[in-house]
Amino acid sequence: MTDGIDHDSQALAREVIARCQALARFSEDAGSIRRTFLCEPMRQCHQEIAGWVAPLGATSRIDAVGNLRIVYPAVAAPAEAEAGAPRLFIGSHLDTVPDAGVYDGILGVVLGIALLSAIHGRKLPFAVEAVGFSEEEGIRFGTPFIGSRALAGTLDEELLNRQDAQGVSIRKAIADFGLNPAEIAQETISEDVLGYLEFHIEQGPVLENAGRPLGVVEAIAGQSRLQFTFVGRSNHVGTTPMNLRHDALAAAAEFISAVEHRARTTSGLVATVGAIQANPGAANVIAGETRLSLDVRHQYDDARNTAVDYFIRNAEDIAARRKLKVRQQTLMDQPAVSMDPFLVGQAHEAVGKAGCEPYRMVSGAGHDAMILAAKVPSAMIFLRTPGGISHHPSESVDVRDVARAIDCGVHLLDQLASSSEFQRKTQHA
Ligand SMILES: [Zn+2]
Repeated sequence: MTDGIDHDSQALAREVIARCQALARFSEDAGSIRRTFLCEPMRQCHQEIAGWVAPLGATSRIDAVGNLRIVYPAVAAPAEAEAGAPRLFIGSHLDTVPDAGVYDGILGVVLGIALLSAIHGRKLPFAVEAVGFSEEEGIRFGTPFIGSRALAGTLDEELLNRQDAQGVSIRKAIADFGLNPAEIAQETISEDVLGYLEFHIEQGPVLENAGRPLGVVEAIAGQSRLQFTFVGRSNHVGTTPMNLRHDALAAAAEFISAVEHRARTTSGLVATVGAIQANPGAANVIAGETRLSLDVRHQYDDARNTAVDYFIRNAEDIAARRKLKVRQQTLMDQPAVSMDPFLVGQAHEAVGKAGCEPYRMVSGAGHDAMILAAKVPSAMIFLRTPGGISHHPSESVDVRDVARAIDCGVHLLDQLASSSEFQRKTQHA
């Protein structure tokens, strides 16, 4: 024991990190990591992982949407595992953003496999299926969660026809990879899946700030995205007195400050103007039009909707006072998703058993668990992210935090294996 962390878990944690780094070499770009939906390096990634799990007595296959599916049978009844015996999913995604780090998504898949090693030979009343989702980031098709949507049964015809920059549809990309898009419907999960667990790096500074290695996610924040356009009048900056202007950029600036102020003074709210375009955009011309984005997130949909209504009224007030016009358009309105209260409680307990004080939190970013939660009880555990940095080559994790996460995962599996409530959930999941 070092730092109260189990010795075997430390060794496994070092292996997890080495394996994440090994997978980083399967990239579409030389010298940096980029692995998008069903690119050729994804196939190499699958082959590498399949080699790791074969000695565990686990079977692996690629499903119809390109997810890697590794089944570790319930030891008591290995034959039933293939015939729809109850199973628990543990997973995350294997795709990456361009110029990615090593751990976002990948860590959750590799850690799930480490848990199979950790419980190797132990009898669980359910099978454990480690899942490596083929697509979560939305890079190639501008549509995220292709892998998990297939399992949730929400990958519809319209989505399958979406095209990438080369005009290749999702459907064609699947066929080109040697898979059959007509079989996607068969991948929809049913009663045999007891639940979904996802380990993921936090991708933010909250755990590090709080001095906690592991976080238990209670909900994934809902998200609104809007576009505002302030319309004033362009004119000469030297000849137009200040009191006779209709400056669309000054109006936008006032609005941006108001958004920040409201979010800073509202508990749990994050609101961001991340993009702005001023037209005509010259140093000697008053801006006649500005277009800006607004992203609003909160754990509770009521609070998010109240904030969005406030921001719309605020923009109208600013425009009226400055004798401008404003239009707004809602581009996204995605409800918050709660994690399963039973699994959240179990995860909380397991984090404690791993020697960490649990930290309850909301995920501000979307994850596969958000999609699967519509079908099965789902939970997420976050690992502290040094510097809060992700989607960047300098993304990292502390090997001791990975060891704690493995400890936590083993406790969680043992708890679920001996939980009659979890087994009951099984019957009517
Ligand atoms: Zn991710």
